Amino acid sequence: MRLTFLGGAESVTGSNYLLEHEGKHILIDCGMFQGDETLEKKNVEPLPFDVHTIDAVFITHAHIDHIGRVPLLVKEGYSGPIYSTAPTKDEAYELLLDAYTLMTHKYKGDIDPPKPLFEISDIDEAMSQWHTIEYHKTMQSGPFKITYYDAGHILGSASIVVEAGLPAQAGGIKVGFSGDLGNVPAPLVKDTEYLPAVDYALVESTYGGRIHPPMGERKEKLRAIIQETVAAGGTLLIPAFAMERTQELLYELNELVEHKRIPEVPIFIDSPLAIKMTSVYKKYLNNPSFVDSETRGLVKSGDEIFNFKGLDFTVTTEESKKINSVLPPKIIIAGSGMSNGGRVLHHELRYLPDPQSTILFVGYQSDHSLGRQIINGAHEVTIMGDTVPVRARVETLGGYSAHADQPLLMKWIGALQPKPKTLFVVQGDVEEQKALRGAAEKELGIHAVIPKAGEEIELV
Ligand SMILES: [Zn+2]
Repeated sequence: MRLTFLGGAESVTGSNYLLEHEGKHILIDCGMFQGDETLEKKNVEPLPFDVHTIDAVFITHAHIDHIGRVPLLVKEGYSGPIYSTAPTKDEAYELLLDAYTLMTHKYKGDIDPPKPLFEISDIDEAMSQWHTIEYHKTMQSGPFKITYYDAGHILGSASIVVEAGLPAQAGGIKVGFSGDLGNVPAPLVKDTEYLPAVDYALVESTYGGRIHPPMGERKEKLRAIIQETVAAGGTLLIPAFAMERTQELLYELNELVEHKRIPEVPIFIDSPLAIKMTSVYKKYLNNPSFVDSETRGLVKSGDEIFNFKGLDFTVTTEESKKINSVLPPKIIIAGSGMSNGGRVLHHELRYLPDPQSTILFVGYQSDHSLGRQIINGAHEVTIMGDTVPVRARVETLGGYSAHADQPLLMKWIGALQPKPKTLFVVQGDVEEQKALRGAAEKELGIHAVIPKAGEEIELV
């Protein structure tokens, strides 16, 4: 079996791996490159394979850096099946539509805007080719046997084990793809599952060199920040990722509000995408395949965890604008999570200069994002062409990351028994990759490598 690292190697984003065996080809993920412009230019390069040779596509989870080029595949003529879990399919549809909107809005007003990477019809077409697959049920695709495991990262996320080999070889060669691994224990999704024995494994390394603060602390910190901001008469602005972070925040706010641990203030979810994603989560809240027992128990007991006093979902632009006229204290959760776009920018224009207000980051901020600049202590930032002073209090809650930190990644790697022949460290910035490779080699005695983008490896 031959493995090619087409994306996700030497970078966090663009997850895309090609497996070839007996003349058959499958892809694991087909994500978009995100971050700085050099990286994003890679999205418009021709796909590094002939789409007509691809027999099937398997998706780990719905984040755009894992699915963003799926409609492009279809646009280029791919007519084969695409597989994922059921929640991933639902989430992917909304996220791809959102990606299309972002692509077309970016160049709004330009005389000769670049064409979007794909059209809505390509998304619809991809959806018509998209099948759902359950965890733990092995399926055969040509010479490949594929099994999905719960990655515990976001609703429906998966790690994938692919098995293929010469008929004479008992069981063939097994390779495990971590996908993105979760930050356990998370409030909604189930815990990350460890993989069975594999010959080779690919592990993500977004937080390969870092340690998250303990979960209990994050909730206490959230409560304290809300109380302090309310006492100061300010606005708490939380740029949040539409999927998982927003729903986790709602889960915890629901508990804080219902146990009267925070003062009663208006809470706005000001993101059409987050609102759609919350509906997808609602659809699966009773499903034991995807949601942990504690949350299902709450739902069973009649607690509508995405519906509590003070909570308001603002769908339309008019509703969003009305938030301005609501006097503080108030809480606004708005996308996008890295402040790269979305309604949060309008709120940042308004509240970053206000010393009574707080901006709270709850997820990964890439190197070049506005969120990163603010966290790094910028005294002023540029938002939609305006220079804005940063006088608001700036806080971060690292524990809300959907990604495993180094200790959790090491646990996942250590659970691979017997040790795989090689561990490929992928999906991380170079420093994080190196940190994780070092730890895996030193503490677990595993042969770990950082593959180069485009590198091909014969798995034997
Ligand atoms: Zn992810």
